Amino acid sequence: MWELIQEIPGQEIWEMHRKRKRRMVAFVRERAAASATQRKSSATEVRRLQEILDPDVFTIGFARRFATYKRATLLFRDVNRLKRILNHPTMPVQIVIAGKAHPKDHPGKTLIREIYNLSRDPEISKRLIFVEDYGIQVAREMVQGVDLWLNNPQRGEEACGTSGMKASMNGVLNFSVLDGWFDEAFEQSASWAIGDRVLYSEDQDDIHASAIYSTLENDIVPLYYDSRGADQEIPTEWVRRMKTCIANLTPSFSCGRMVAEYMSDLYQPAHKLWQTISSTDFEACRQKTIWDSRMSENWDRIRFLDLGDGPDDAVMSGSAVPLSATLDLAGLSASEVRVEAVIGEIGVNGQLQSTYTLPLPSVAEEGTLVTFANEFTVQQTGRVGYSVRVSPNHFDNPLTRPCNALLKWVSD
Ligand SMILES: *Cc1c(COP(=O)(O)O)cnc(C)c1O
Repeated sequence: MWELIQEIPGQEIWEMHRKRKRRMVAFVRERAAASATQRKSSATEVRRLQEILDPDVFTIGFARRFATYKRATLLFRDVNRLKRILNHPTMPVQIVIAGKAHPKDHPGKTLIREIYNLSRDPEISKRLIFVEDYGIQVAREMVQGVDLWLNNPQRGEEACGTSGMKASMNGVLNFSVLDGWFDEAFEQSASWAIGDRVLYSEDQDDIHASAIYSTLENDIVPLYYDSRGADQEIPTEWVRRMKTCIANLTPSFSCGRMVAEYMSDLYQPAHKLWQTISSTDFEACRQKTIWDSRMSENWDRIRFLDLGDGPDDAVMSGSAVPLSATLDLAGLSASEVRVEAVIGEIGVNGQLQSTYTLPLPSVAEEGTLVTFANEFTVQQTGRVGYSVRVSPNHFDNPLTRPCNALLKWVSD
């Protein structure tokens, strides 16, 4: 269905977008003027705010909580360069910012103060506004009415960045760090990325700030202003990107998809389980409870008896190492427990790191003694170690182990 977006005439999408942009500008002006009046600002200041922004100028939106990891002031790292971008003689730019800091987040509040003060600098005061009292209404106007949605968090900190999805389904292109949702969406987004797919480090602040400036100067802003068709009416390439963005991202990055997945992956399986359990008058629960108490009663008596012979010399990477463990299961059957080796590199303090687990199936039984064995192929180089553990293994959920479950290590 979303592919049909491509058939909407560019002119129509563009007109709709311009209408929303005008509405956003009117909304921001009215709000800013009203709050200035309430603050008892001068009549000149109120008049200034009534005329702030320009619906024909390329507009960047930035709205979110002012948690410091979101780096709200990154865009202002080089104020002079930013001023040149905003006041470009033929390709001007304007910025609408909104957001709230948690009342106790003092660094967050400082960021807001910095931006607010900068927005009163006469050289850029027409082109930069901080919209007060961020909330759903402000967010709605902005994600529909700006041209470009900016998101520049420290990579690795953004859980999702939902506002970028809201923007994209409105045909607002993204300009974002490859974090949260955008790390998944970038390639189909017809949008722009800030930085690479590497974890945040402080030196990226400068690098990302100058990447933002140069991508705006060289790619984004010229594309917006220059790619108008012969009739000079609509920016053809920009509108093509708007369509691609809406068509590619809306089906995947939406509440509809999210709720459908909650349904199919969680609610429906939970409902089915409930039906199964309740239809047999909770017999399975009773059996599980009996099984649980049998496990707890016998657990203390489970013993590791023998770990076999580990390799006592260097092992070639790629060769197989046999592992075995003999346990006294105190009357529990081999299928009721799960024995596994945890293998990893030996760290500087002797702890195992970068571990993975290898299940050991039972290979021999004698009375209550059961031997479990498997072999693993050494992949790493350096010092490799392992330990062995045993835990209950219920037949209904053999691979899940609740975090409060019984567990015993060979060294316990
Ligand atoms: C979408 C939204 C957010 C969350 O935005 P992020 O990009 O995930 O930080 C916060 N507040 C409001 C009012 C929103 O509409």
